[in-house]
Amino acid sequence: MIQFLDLQKINAQYAEQLKTAASRVIDSGWYLLGKEVEDFEKKLANYIGAEPSQTIAVGNGLDALRLILRGYIELGEMQEGDEVIVPANTYIASIIAISDNRLTPVLVEPNIETYNIDIELIEKKITEKTKAILLVHLYGQVVWSEKLEHLAKTYNLKIIEDNAQAIGAMWNGIRTGNLGDAAGFSFYPAKNLGALGDSGTIITKNYELAKTIRALGNYGSERKNHNAFRGVNSRMDEIQAAFLSVKLDYVDAETAILQNIAEYYCNHITNDKIVLPSFDGRFDYAQRPVSVAERSRSHVWHVFVIRCKQRDKLQAHLTKHNIQTQIHYPIPPHKQACYATTPLAKLQLPITEQIHHEVLSLPISPVMTMDEVQTVVDAVNSF
Ligand SMILES: *Cc1c(COP(=O)(O)O)cnc(C)c1O
Repeated sequence: MIQFLDLQKINAQYAEQLKTAASRVIDSGWYLLGKEVEDFEKKLANYIGAEPSQTIAVGNGLDALRLILRGYIELGEMQEGDEVIVPANTYIASIIAISDNRLTPVLVEPNIETYNIDIELIEKKITEKTKAILLVHLYGQVVWSEKLEHLAKTYNLKIIEDNAQAIGAMWNGIRTGNLGDAAGFSFYPAKNLGALGDSGTIITKNYELAKTIRALGNYGSERKNHNAFRGVNSRMDEIQAAFLSVKLDYVDAETAILQNIAEYYCNHITNDKIVLPSFDGRFDYAQRPVSVAERSRSHVWHVFVIRCKQRDKLQAHLTKHNIQTQIHYPIPPHKQACYATTPLAKLQLPITEQIHHEVLSLPISPVMTMDEVQTVVDAVNSF
């Protein structure tokens, strides 16, 4: 059986270091808001190119996004009913982060080739109430452009990045999570940088926002027993921070393996029933000389997503060949029961719906062997 993602095998690579880290935390007697979290915040800030004091470790990726928007509300930059533009085909967490803050998600269709928000469609959706664009670097691919920066400036919109799937990706030498005004990271175990439990982080260029969010995540308290806000409890555990500090050292090496596998899939899957992923680098690669660094950094392959008109049959065919696959995602957010009574339910989003019907994610992971990759290629080609 070729597993979709073998987390046991991924973490086994670092077992000794992880156990040392766990022991250090156990023996310290200090489990929250301590040195491990502080060290991880510094280390992550350094990796991304951000300010350590404006890097805030929290409980999970959803909270990271929720707290960014809540922070803007507390600062008076947004209020109930304001609109946030977001890609329609994202994982539902991006949209829950908006609606949970009583803000209105404004769904924009993705580009059918990149699956990322279609930047060309954003301007038409901007109203008096629009306050932000919540970008999602979906599947691990960067979405950014000068046009987007210009739009944000012209209409005075914040750009928030949902960087849950794209740690390590770059645009023009700048890492995702450091492109916009604020970014949410998730370290859910299956993400490219995965903890051994839940955790997330916020990075922002705005000092006041960072200060507010740090308080909001700790009951709204900046000073013990003084509560400036009615905050929440969303803190990264010391033990998760210790694990993440170990694993952050390996992210770039793991990304390089994912990029190799993706390249192999792209070059060897030849079945014309399959639509392979498109990414900047691949197009450029054929057209003009592009440095390996530039080519490879636009996509960090959190998942390798192909499209097929007979997706369900393809998935059954791969299952028969003992290959696990997944669908990211089978039901788009606007069709989810939780939004059935909201205006989202009435939206017509044909590209999003097509994507949800046709996509299939093939196994890809830093511990997959090239033999396994070849087995997947053969099985896909024999469909
Ligand atoms: C995983 C994910 C989240 C949420 O992260 P959690 O840590 O699971 O809360 C948000 N957005 C996207 C795009 C994700 O993939």
